[in-house]
Amino acid sequence: MVTTPDTRSAAPLRTCIGCRQQRPQSALVRCVESPQGATVSRTAAGRGAWLCSATCFHTAARRKAFDRAWKHTVQPHTLEPLEQLLRNAFDDVIINMEELPTVEVANDEPAATKG
Ligand SMILES: [Zn+2]
Repeated sequence: MVTTPDTRSAAPLRTCIGCRQQRPQSALVRCVESPQGATVSRTAAGRGAWLCSATCFHTAARRKAFDRAWKHTVQPHTLEPLEQLLRNAFDDVIINMEELPTVEVANDEPAATKG
């Protein structure tokens, strides 16, 4: 009998192209290059470039990790629309990540005290 002792291992893992950390697919955002330019989509056809944070977007852009993910030279202007799209996308991911183990999130603002 083959069993999977840890059910969480069933979640597909992807590697962030910025920090190279493997994370559950649900905690990452997938960037693809469409004819209209780079966009954020989990379903669009094409090679996916996975990112875990907006910081990693900058890291990946600087390291030309998008070139490697998409297998060709990516012009900086191609990535420009991604920055805002990623901000929106990570807002959603952060909500999903509440179910994940503790994640360090850099936050400039002090936590608001509810009461
Ligand atoms: Zn990352």
